[in-house]
Amino acid sequence: MNYFQYIGNELFAEQVPIQEIASQVGTPAYIYSYQTLKRHFTAHDSAFGNIDHLTCFAVKANSNLAILELLGKLGAGADIVSGGELFRALKAGISPKKIVFAGVGKTQQEMEYALESEILMFNVESWQELEVLNEVAGKCGKVAPVALRVNPDISSETHPYITTGLKESKFGIDIHSALESYKKARSLKNINTIGTHVHIGSQITKVSPFVDSLERISGLIQKLRQEDIPIRYFDIGGGLGITYKDEAPPSPQEFFKALSPTLQGMDLSIISEPGRVIVGNAGALITKVLYVKKKEEKNFLIVDAGMNDIMRPSLYKAYHELLPVFIEKRQNILADIVGPICESGDFLARDRELQELFSGELIATMSAGAYGFTMSSNYNSRPRVPEVLVKGDKFRIIRERETYEDLIRGEIIPNF
Ligand SMILES: *Cc1c(COP(=O)(O)O)cnc(C)c1O
Repeated sequence: MNYFQYIGNELFAEQVPIQEIASQVGTPAYIYSYQTLKRHFTAHDSAFGNIDHLTCFAVKANSNLAILELLGKLGAGADIVSGGELFRALKAGISPKKIVFAGVGKTQQEMEYALESEILMFNVESWQELEVLNEVAGKCGKVAPVALRVNPDISSETHPYITTGLKESKFGIDIHSALESYKKARSLKNINTIGTHVHIGSQITKVSPFVDSLERISGLIQKLRQEDIPIRYFDIGGGLGITYKDEAPPSPQEFFKALSPTLQGMDLSIISEPGRVIVGNAGALITKVLYVKKKEEKNFLIVDAGMNDIMRPSLYKAYHELLPVFIEKRQNILADIVGPICESGDFLARDRELQELFSGELIATMSAGAYGFTMSSNYNSRPRVPEVLVKGDKFRIIRERETYEDLIRGEIIPNF
């Protein structure tokens, strides 16, 4: 559910006509709905009921300060994967005590920054990383709170849509050697193992992979208790999918209900790291048709948003619904909707049936709130697009469109 809807024949974000935003800020532009964000976060967070829990929003899905600030105010913590994301989360006023730090390639500098900031915990992904963290913590005179990220080795045969929970993936510590790693971690003076972390992938639209992996990990946690390695936090990761087209992912309530039998008796504090499910359907990328090209084999709508603005179609062949901002009584056409970038892979959609559109008309690329702006780049020296937050009948620019000067900031022509 989201708050993008037609009133009459015109598409609105909450109570604001999208056309009005486009005419003020130009196109392309990302538009987010405050009410949708709030609803999604609250639904997710409250699904956990009275179980001790913390919802850490995955910052990489959408890292705009205004979004982080509003989620923080609703009680969210942050799941970060870099020093830059830590900087953003802190700037947005999120308490370091609600920040968890994942990622396979943390640098010593990032570790230091996170230690000095006193974050809740590091989700450590390898034995070597643990040794380095131990050393860095020693130098800073700190003890690093740690959860080991365990790879549950959920087989791709059972779950073909799992991408990070396989033995051969680069993420986490193999479940079969996890107990050994926890024992070894005990010998490290500046490490305090307080948790277990698992994250099996993204855009998962069934509960069974989550249930299977949590059951595996809960077996491990029992063994840890037997070995007198008590932990306090069980970080169950993110990855819950959304509807882009016709997927039918579980609701937060269904999701929690499926996990609840495993989680209830554990007497642990549960951390979850939702990203996409919070912001995905709370955002749209508005683009304008520049040219219509009719070839014998194919129609092309050339629009002003390219793969640098939204990478998911090119990168994953991802489907995004395309809605005309004005519905007109016209026939449908079959077209490729392509951007202005000099790459054949630059498209928003291929062979898409949609209402015939003409130069100057607007299209909303739906479900673009997650991994949309955050994956955008300056490729082809295109300034990154503005982000706008709508709340009720108001809207504000929450990131300005970049200028040509922004493009060359920091560049130096040497004098040799
Ligand atoms: C990307 C990521 C998430 C968020 O994934 P979503 O699919 O957006 O929910 C959570 N945790 C970790 C460790 C991640 O890498």
